[in-house]
Amino acid sequence: MDHLRRQFSSEAFNPPALTPSLVQLLIFILIPIFALSLLGIFSRPVGSLASVWPANALLLGIMARQPGFTRPAGWLAAFSGYLLADWITGSSWDKNLLLNLGNLLGVAGGLALVRLLPGGLFPITQKLGILRLIGVALIASLSASIAGIFVYPYFWNGTPLEGAIFWSVSEFVNYIAFLPLVLTAPGSMQEFRSSYRNRRQADHSMLYDLLPFIAFVLLCILVSVVDGPGSLAIPIVALLWCGLTYSLFTTAVLTLIYCFWTLLFVAQGYISAYAHLVSWDNLMSLRLSVSMIALAPLMNAIMAHKRLQQIDKLTYLASHDGLTGALNRGGFYKAISDQVRRKKPHSFAFMMIDLDHFKQINDTRGHAAGDKVLATFVSRVQEKLPSNAILGRLGGEEFAVLLWNLPVSDYHRCAEAIRYSLEEEIKLDLNSDASVKASVSIGMIHGSLDEESNCDFELITGEADRALYQAKEQGRNCVVEVSCSF
Ligand code: GH3
Ligand code: MG
Ligand code: MG
Repeated sequence: MDHLRRQFSSEAFNPPALTPSLVQLLIFILIPIFALSLLGIFSRPVGSLASVWPANALLLGIMARQPGFTRPAGWLAAFSGYLLADWITGSSWDKNLLLNLGNLLGVAGGLALVRLLPGGLFPITQKLGILRLIGVALIASLSASIAGIFVYPYFWNGTPLEGAIFWSVSEFVNYIAFLPLVLTAPGSMQEFRSSYRNRRQADHSMLYDLLPFIAFVLLCILVSVVDGPGSLAIPIVALLWCGLTYSLFTTAVLTLIYCFWTLLFVAQGYISAYAHLVSWDNLMSLRLSVSMIALAPLMNAIMAHKRLQQIDKLTYLASHDGLTGALNRGGFYKAISDQVRRKKPHSFAFMMIDLDHFKQINDTRGHAAGDKVLATFVSRVQEKLPSNAILGRLGGEEFAVLLWNLPVSDYHRCAEAIRYSLEEEIKLDLNSDASVKASVSIGMIHGSLDEESNCDFELITGEADRALYQAKEQGRNCVVEVSCSF
């Protein structure tokens, strides 16, 4: 199932239409549609239509994310899920068949627009993502309303126009509330964890991160305490705050809770302000306003998400060297002081590394060859160092490395591995045999740190620099080690 999970990754813009297996049809279509249909059926006020009906939005979302499910087998699995839920809850066969054909009609209409839109509907963070969502929800709801025109007069003695309005508005709120959840759901646990990590502010406590959620819960409780038709708008401010703080998926989950909670509570008469208001046209008004409320936090969250991505990109560019991808001087010193502050290492090794006679390489082989040597050197060194090592390019052909909490013999081994990384000649061009030989000199200072000691990196850099000069004086292509303690 791994390949399917990859297809679901939010990075996959246009996943190829794979053929789903029977198990995948069961797990992703039949069982969820069956379960959500049951949820919808149990939300029905007696003798009426469902207050919430998320099954259609789930189907549309899954089919938009993974076109493989739009094959006939996918539709059949979905239809079976719908029919089964109605059948076991005792629906008459004609109602069961007609209502569920209406469900499929709505999803098919929405999917037709998804197909027509260049870029589709997924991911929702793409250009005009919210407008795409509204458009698809609108077309899906209008398509479903065709069923309403015929079914409403037949089963509920309403007019065809009432049927069309009822169906389109009710479907619309369900699509707007539930589709974002399917479209922002992480494709894997790894994606989920990384979205959480990206959002988590390192310098904030857990409680600080929870504040928007606590505000959301409190304001939802306040809705049932405060009376009056305006009370439903109370949680919006907390939802907007959640959108600025949490991932898109978490925001979509909270918004969905708000929408379904509101729709269910009003339908069941739990919000007293609405108890006497529950009439056909007030219900339509409520459902439309809940859809609009649901869009606000999502729009906010998408904008925050995009800003965050741009800030991440700028932060990366500001702290990394464009040629080699290593940390630049500023990024390196920030990274090492952050690490020392957080990890409080008991031992460390700091290396100053300088390529030997690099100017000669530039002079004899050209600047591009020199650049190639620098980039190759960094990629070879990155392969050899432990994953927690910090490597930076301090300038020109000078680099520095910080290692910590290793035995002295390992520090020595790492330094030799860095030196040895240039033993093999560097190929300059894929299409020719031209290659260049380079070497490095390394000055390394290693030592222990006690609890209270503050790392003075200026001092450490100075010591490592002196060791590097000695290495140059000793004939280059060697490591000079100095030990110290703080
Ligand atoms: P030594 O062994 O004493 O370190 O000699 P060296 O030639 O390596 O040292 P020197 O400081 O004389 O020369 C460093 C050269 O590195 C000079 C400079 O043009 C070159 N250089 C600095 N940055 C870059 C770069 O980004 N790309 C290229 N190709 N060369 C660079
Ligand atoms: Mg040099
Ligand atoms: Mg130099």
